[in-house]
Amino acid sequence: MNDTAYADAPDPGAPDLDALIVGAGFAGLYLLHRLRGAGFRARVYEAGGGVGGTWYWNRYPGARCDVESLSYSYQFDEALQQDWEWTERYAVQPDILRYANHVADRFALWPDMQFETRVAAAHWDDDAGLWQVRLEPEGGAPETVTARFCIMATGCLSTANLPDIPGRDSFGGATYHTGRWPHEPVDFTGLRVAVIGTGSSAIQSIPAIAEQAAQLTVFQRTANYSVPAQNRPLDPDEVAAVKADYRGLREEAKTRFGCFVVDLPRPSALADSPERRVAEFERRWQTGGLTFMASYEDLLFDPEANDTAADFVRAKIRETVRDPETARKLMPIDVIGCKRLCVDTGYFETYNRPNVRLIDIVERPIREITESGVAIEGEAIAADAIVFATGFDAMTGTLKRIDIRGRDGLLLRDAWEAGPRTYLGLAVNGFPNLFTITGPGSPSVLTNMMPSIEQHVEWVSDCLEALRGRGATVIEAERAAQDGWVGHVNDLADASLRSTCSSWYVGANIAGKPRVFMPYIGGYPAYAARCAEIAAAGYEGFAIR
Ligand code: FAD
Ligand code: NAP
Repeated sequence: MNDTAYADAPDPGAPDLDALIVGAGFAGLYLLHRLRGAGFRARVYEAGGGVGGTWYWNRYPGARCDVESLSYSYQFDEALQQDWEWTERYAVQPDILRYANHVADRFALWPDMQFETRVAAAHWDDDAGLWQVRLEPEGGAPETVTARFCIMATGCLSTANLPDIPGRDSFGGATYHTGRWPHEPVDFTGLRVAVIGTGSSAIQSIPAIAEQAAQLTVFQRTANYSVPAQNRPLDPDEVAAVKADYRGLREEAKTRFGCFVVDLPRPSALADSPERRVAEFERRWQTGGLTFMASYEDLLFDPEANDTAADFVRAKIRETVRDPETARKLMPIDVIGCKRLCVDTGYFETYNRPNVRLIDIVERPIREITESGVAIEGEAIAADAIVFATGFDAMTGTLKRIDIRGRDGLLLRDAWEAGPRTYLGLAVNGFPNLFTITGPGSPSVLTNMMPSIEQHVEWVSDCLEALRGRGATVIEAERAAQDGWVGHVNDLADASLRSTCSSWYVGANIAGKPRVFMPYIGGYPAYAARCAEIAAAGYEGFAIR
């Protein structure tokens, strides 16, 4: 097969598309741009009504990024990164969504994207060597499209988890999920609001909701560590300094575990004196954001070292929250950094407001949701609105909800029954010509996701170009290569404290989900190097025909 056989579809037996992309978040947008640029006929199908993915759906008050905007942005186009003006250190959701729309405008992506269209099924036809993809447009008739390659840019955190609390649907007031927030502004002024959950989404939204609500009750199952963002407007001089050598910053980031630049860690928390250690934690605390966990190299490997950082944050909570009983409930006891550290603006301070109350639902479990509020052990708490800040069926939930069938009708959800198995988080044995962007088994959620997305998109696009160059049409991860990768991912996870707590990284937030640490914990540089080696070796571990 030559180049034009992919690009022009002259053959009546050719599939409708070379590449069908599911999702119009940052992954889907860049995939479309890159694949089109490489001469492939590509098209995006998106369940939502617009671009932006995470930033389209998560419109809750207070939503903003936790990696600095100058780094949480695309780098594939120098003119784009020079032209775009971020105004705050951590951009708010409307600004990030505006950026996604700008990218779609700038690269004229709109004609090749279809919205309000859910991809319900993708079935591999081994004889024809293509995917039959069933689309369900909102309010329209289902249709089937064929594609040589199917690329799941469906996001790690895109399927909201609405817990099955008894009586949930009997509530008479308004209910919201942070990950499915309405497009029109929600006004909580004068209302009694209940927030269930204390993860990152809750920690960002609680201070904003508390400013409006007459009464805010927070229902906490597990106390969470949070550090201040120290957000502020960006100084034009610092932006100019970054833009003078943007590429330099991006290259430096690629040498760092999480693919963003923070001050390098000191070697060991235990090697420093207590005074030196507290000074280091305080310096990072004042700097703000995710740099805190980069204080020392051993924080996520040595429980004693980890305790020193956890103690520091607990002391901050004790200092900040005036009511000792509320402070006690807010103090986390598990490993700090086990979950992605929350980054907040005034979270712990919010509990000093007279209109905010914290309920520990381990001590006083939620019995049921009633028509008028939330009933806990011994008390009925009246509410006009309930906000579920209860997270996502992360990493695998979205893929498992699609009826994906590979060779011999193998269902992806069956193949992953005991946990996800991938090669590099990019491909799955038994599912030829299927790629996942930031899938389980890749660094994804443990990193700055923008460069991780770009690395995947470029790897997949280069791979399709290489196949085209060779005249090949089918690629599939080999079982042995996949087993080897899964083993490596598990070995690394076992060595880190991160796999020890009950979090969405291990599927603990979803009843019945197998407990497997899903992301690759070896860091961006090692991972990207391995992907590059595999490509350079002619796609080692893949069967190609
Ligand atoms: P998404 O943005 O999730 O897009 C996937 C899209 O696929 C969605 O629009 C979805 O509707 C669509 N889709 C899914 N299934 C189907 C289907 N069957 N048919 C059609 N369409 C489908 N990461 C960071 O690095 N830094 C941050 O600061 C940060 N903040 C975050 C804040 C929040 C509130 C959340 C939830 C996540 C955050 N993340 C952050 C992670 C974030 O998800 C990624 O940074 C990034 O936006 C993911 O982009 P994506 O394109 O891979 O997926
Ligand atoms: P999350 O971290 O999974 O938090 C969900 C919260 O809901 C937890 O406190 C959880 O308690 C609670 N919960 C879940 N089910 C419950 C139930 N049945 N009853 C009571 N409480 C329940 O979800 P999230 O806050 O949406 O964040 C998910 C991820 O998205 C983050 O880790 C981060 O990667 C990303 N994110 C980033 C930002 C940012 O700062 N830019 C903001 C939001 C999200 P348990 O802990 O006990 O399970």
